[in-house]
Amino acid sequence: MIRRIARWAAVAAGLAVGGQAHATGGSYTICVNFGLSYTDGATGDHLTGSSYHARGTTIRMTRHSDNYTNDFTLDSNGCVTNTFVTSATWTIELVFKATVLGNSIELRKDPAVDASEPIYKMLLDSSFTTVDGAAPIFTFGGGTTPADLSNIMAAAVYGIANRNGGLSGVTYSFRYGGTNCPGSAFGCYCTSVDCTSNYRTVNVPAALAKYKYGILHEMGHAMSDEANGHLGSDADCGGEDDACTGGDVDQGLHRMSSKEYNSCAASEGIAHFFSVLVLDDDTVTDCIIQKHYAPDWDSTGTVTGNESDTFSCEIGVDGVTPPPPAPSIPAVPSHDFLGNYDHGNSGDCIPTGTISENRGTEYDWLRMFWDLHTDHAIDWPDILLQWNLADPDSWNSNGNGHGTSYPAGGMSDAAGNLYLNYQSDYDAAAAWNGTNR
Ligand SMILES: [Zn+2]
Repeated sequence: MIRRIARWAAVAAGLAVGGQAHATGGSYTICVNFGLSYTDGATGDHLTGSSYHARGTTIRMTRHSDNYTNDFTLDSNGCVTNTFVTSATWTIELVFKATVLGNSIELRKDPAVDASEPIYKMLLDSSFTTVDGAAPIFTFGGGTTPADLSNIMAAAVYGIANRNGGLSGVTYSFRYGGTNCPGSAFGCYCTSVDCTSNYRTVNVPAALAKYKYGILHEMGHAMSDEANGHLGSDADCGGEDDACTGGDVDQGLHRMSSKEYNSCAASEGIAHFFSVLVLDDDTVTDCIIQKHYAPDWDSTGTVTGNESDTFSCEIGVDGVTPPPPAPSIPAVPSHDFLGNYDHGNSGDCIPTGTISENRGTEYDWLRMFWDLHTDHAIDWPDILLQWNLADPDSWNSNGNGHGTSYPAGGMSDAAGNLYLNYQSDYDAAAAWNGTNR
C-alpha cells in the first residue's frame, strides 16, 4: 500500500513539473566572485581573485512566500544552476561553509565575539526573482570585513582543492576575529593541548586574514594534526640561541630563522611547507614564500640589505643552486642555515657535544620538506603519513640528544616504514638541509 502511494505521488509530481514548466518555469544561474585583497604573495603564487575560488561554498535561498529554505553548493566555477517551475522571489545568502573533495571548511565567528559561534553569512540579494535565463554574479571584497572572510575562505578552499593530503571527511573549522591564540595575536591553530577553549580550530585574527601564506600556514598545522589523529605535536618553541655568544643578535622565538628545538622547527617547517606547496604548486619551482616579517638572516639586529619578507626556499643558503629568484638570503658557506648560525662571528652556535643535537631552524625544515617533495618525488600524502608515523606528539621536545624519540631520528625512522620506504631519500634531504641533528 505504501509503495503504491509513493509511485503515484512521484508520477503526479512529474506531471506537475512538466505541465507548469511550459507556463512560467525555466532556469537561472547564480555565480559568486570573491574579491580578494591579500597583501602577500605578489610573486610566486597562483591564488588570485576569481570566481573559481568560491567553489564549494554554500548558497542559501529562502523563498519569501513561505520561508522555504534550500542550500546549494557552488560548482568548480563558483556557480550553481537551478531550474524552477513557478517564478518566485527569494533572499540569497552566502554561507561560509564549503565542501571540497570530500572535506568541509567552516568559517565561524570567534567565541569572544559571539558566544554561539555561528557560521558567517553574507546577504547577496534580498529580493531575487527567478526569471528564465537570470544569471547574476555577486562580488564582494575590498578591504572590509567581507574581504577578510573571502580571503580566508578562498585560501582554505584553494588549499584543499590543490593539496587535500589524501584526507577525507575532515571539517576544517576557521574562526575569524578576536585573539584566541595564547601568546600570539597573529593567528594560531589550536589543538586540545594548547588552546582547550578552541579545540581544533584555525584562529584567524584580522591581521592574519591579509596573508594567504599565513592562513595556509595555520591550515598546514591543522592538516598535519588531522594526519596525526588530533594528537598535536609536542613542540617546544621556547628554546633557542643557547650557546650563541659570538655577537649575533637573538633572533627571538618562533621565527623562520631562529635557532629552535627541532620539535618546534619541524612542526613549523611542515606548516610553512604546506603554504608554499599550495601556492607555488606544480608549475612553480622556486619556492617563493612571503611572510609578514622580514627575517634578520645575518643576525645583526636590523633588517638590512637584501633581507626581505619575500624569499626563496629552493635556493641553498650557500647561494649556489639555483640563483636566487628574488631578494633572498645572504650567501653563507654551508647548505643549512643553522650550520652557519653564527655567520662567521667568533661564537659558535653549533659546538661539538650534546648542545648541537635536537636543534634546527624553521627555514631548514621548510627547505628539507621542499627538497623531499621536488628532488625526491615524495608527495604530500606520504609526508603526512610520515609525520603521523614519526609520533610528533611524543617527541622528546627539548632534550639534548638524538635517536628515534627525537624529531630528526623519528622522522628518519618513519620514512623507513614499510608503507613509505623512502628512508634513504629522506636522510639525503635531511643531511643536505641540516635537519638531521
Ligand atoms: Zn606555526
